[in-house]
Amino acid sequence: MSNPTVAAISTPSGEGGISVIRISGDDAIAIADSCFCAFSGERLSSLAGYRAAYGEVKDSDGAVLDDGVALVFRAPKSFTGEDTVEISIHGGRVVARGVLRRILECGAKLAAGGEFTKRAFLNGKLDLAKAESIMGVISARSDAALKISQAAKSGSVSRKTEEICEKLLHTAACFAAYSDFPDEDIPDLEPEKFISLLSSCEEELSRLIEGFDMGRVVSEGIDCAIVGKPNVGKSTLMNLLSRSEKSIVTDIAGTTRDIVETTVTVGDITLNLADTAGIRDTADIVESLGVKRAIERTKTAGIILAVFDGSSPLDNDDRLLIEEIKDKNALIVLNKSDLGSNTTEKDFEGFTVITVSAKNGAGEKELAAAIEKLVGFKNLSPDDTILITERQRDCAKRAKGFVDEAMASYNAGVTLDAVGVMVDSAVEALLELTGKRVTNEVSDEVFKRFCIGK
Ligand code: GDP
Repeated sequence: MSNPTVAAISTPSGEGGISVIRISGDDAIAIADSCFCAFSGERLSSLAGYRAAYGEVKDSDGAVLDDGVALVFRAPKSFTGEDTVEISIHGGRVVARGVLRRILECGAKLAAGGEFTKRAFLNGKLDLAKAESIMGVISARSDAALKISQAAKSGSVSRKTEEICEKLLHTAACFAAYSDFPDEDIPDLEPEKFISLLSSCEEELSRLIEGFDMGRVVSEGIDCAIVGKPNVGKSTLMNLLSRSEKSIVTDIAGTTRDIVETTVTVGDITLNLADTAGIRDTADIVESLGVKRAIERTKTAGIILAVFDGSSPLDNDDRLLIEEIKDKNALIVLNKSDLGSNTTEKDFEGFTVITVSAKNGAGEKELAAAIEKLVGFKNLSPDDTILITERQRDCAKRAKGFVDEAMASYNAGVTLDAVGVMVDSAVEALLELTGKRVTNEVSDEVFKRFCIGK
């Protein structure tokens, strides 16, 4: 199969120590040879795989574009599985573009987003679940998110899926054998055994699907609304959590009139924070719009941090808020602890109350722990298999649906070969998850999310 040669800058654009231009395909080494001159006089085509040469990239008129190191990979021992050259030059937008332009002039085509990873997939270097995990590693916003993607990258999702697949294939084979020889008394061919195997597959698939939600919380964060009446310290709390001055802090009530959003990492969790307008009865039209939006946010947020000024007794606006967040996933943040306490736990019966001073940071650790608990976050162990994309979950859900259907059909007395067909469909869905049997449309959809150069 011929692999046309493509090239792209694989490092982020901007100034940096180095930029790497990756060239991959059948003519990668010849193309690099036509513009890269090693100081040793060696041709790159004479180098074995994993060997590097120091030299210069030259323009068509012989002018030096930059000096750098060319690293040669020989197929199939490269990321893409094809001949590859990675040229490391000085980091900088103009110089990197200049070198890329020269490589394109020498015959490479510009790589599309995710093209290198797609080639790695097509050349059997990694399966689809692993390819998706690479994207997860690149875009991880917290240690926990990184851990999940790295586990998937090392093959946890693929292994678990294949394990379930094998059990299902075994069951389907048993169903087929049993329906062919129903009168033979073969101990391994007892329908009860297949059903218990199916039910264990069903449990494992359910665990995978449930784990996805936790993985999502870890990798994408959870929407968190900060609510409370004006001046209780919502913006100060947001600034404390985000270590910045995103929200305007003043002592004039009603300063935050709309929603200010930012993403922060609290403990191991990413919170998509929204600092809302203070919730209170107001005649000001603009402010009342903000209040309306704040109340809306309490309805859609995954968790709510309801802030109160603990140094003042509760008033009607506070009680209004307590009423509003009843039965919601909310934490009471009793702020301004540095000014003393004028509320009691009794005021907030049924809620978890955390006392903090957003101004000096007291209670921040306790708040982080309470948020983790509220989210139901559990530290992920290296043995946990977490599906990392909506596509993977969809495949697992479809597989589980077929397994459920197979068991229900068996119990309803449907013929065994018909039950076997459902098990086969479950296997198909899992093969799609790992990419072993996948349409071009599905794999294109996966790779188009990748950046250029990956
Ligand atoms: P918001 O309207 O609820 O967003 O309240 P702000 O964050 O704008 O704070 C209102 C006022 O309370 C400001 O003057 C803050 O400096 C002050 N403030 C906020 N948190 C604390 C705190 O923990 N202790 C003290 N003493 N003052 C605070």
